[in-house]
Amino acid sequence: MSEPMFYVGLDVGGTTMKAAVVDDQGKPFPSVSLPTDAHLGQEHGLKTMAESIRLAIQTAGLGMDRIAAIGVATPGLMDIKLGLILEPPNLKPWRNVPVAQYVRQAFNKPVAFQNDANAAAFGEFWVGAGRDVSSMVLFTLGTGIGGGIIIGDRVIEGEHSHGGEIGHMRIDLPDRGRLCGCGRRGCLEAYASATAVVARTREAMAAYRGPTRMRELLRDEDGSELSAREVFESAAKGDHLAQEIVDDTAYYLALGATAMIATVDPQLIAYGGGMSEAGDVFLAKIREYVGRFGLSYPASKVQIHYAQLGSDAGFIGAAGCARQLVMSGS
Ligand SMILES: [Zn+2]
Repeated sequence: MSEPMFYVGLDVGGTTMKAAVVDDQGKPFPSVSLPTDAHLGQEHGLKTMAESIRLAIQTAGLGMDRIAAIGVATPGLMDIKLGLILEPPNLKPWRNVPVAQYVRQAFNKPVAFQNDANAAAFGEFWVGAGRDVSSMVLFTLGTGIGGGIIIGDRVIEGEHSHGGEIGHMRIDLPDRGRLCGCGRRGCLEAYASATAVVARTREAMAAYRGPTRMRELLRDEDGSELSAREVFESAAKGDHLAQEIVDDTAYYLALGATAMIATVDPQLIAYGGGMSEAGDVFLAKIREYVGRFGLSYPASKVQIHYAQLGSDAGFIGAAGCARQLVMSGS
């Protein structure tokens, strides 16, 4: 009987990269993190990727012969088919970085290459919130909104590697909606990312005459910025202004969800990122709006939950993509 094989998942982020060995059931060994230091250039970046992978294998206490394949997830812009990072806005000054080829040559193993948000969605699909469904959409709420669409074991990469960029679906008019990080207006991200929640809170407070805890939080003695998490916590404690902001956020997210229901009719829509702290009340609000605005039959059937893997979703999903590459025999 042959020994079980393992997969390495590497998730490259703007500030750190995280890697771990993952077994055939999706269970990770302890992960390792190294600083990305994008400003030191892409040669340095590629070497750090290889170093992270080596460290992860060492941490798992395994020999190289037990590693079947490696999965690497990176932020866009990218060409998934060619295995290239093109011009990622948060990895300056990297340009046209041959990630898949480099890792393949460094380890002489099959390499799966994937967008980081898609990889996170695949991780949740494999062993997280979506482990019992056959199709799902993940929205990850952070500085922006990342997303991924999985239909029947397949990541929807799109023809130009931009499938699943669902933070940039338009929920408001492009000539007068809120300004998004992509430079355009009216995208979901401009309304419902953690950054957007804070921006909307500041604007609402300027026009709000009633008492609100938000004012003290904004004048925080320790000088820290108001966070989306604090807005959600305040809403849970009964702050009216915060409750309005949170309710509007659920409304915007539901517009995104109903667009996905009309497009791919998934079995599950999951939400990851800091706002998962908001609890069941927030999910219930999203469900209520989805019920009101969505196509009635699929909207009544779709499951809506929080994601489960936190920041491990990216490297677990990258390892899952590597496993899939091996299983498909390519
Ligand atoms: Zn946008």
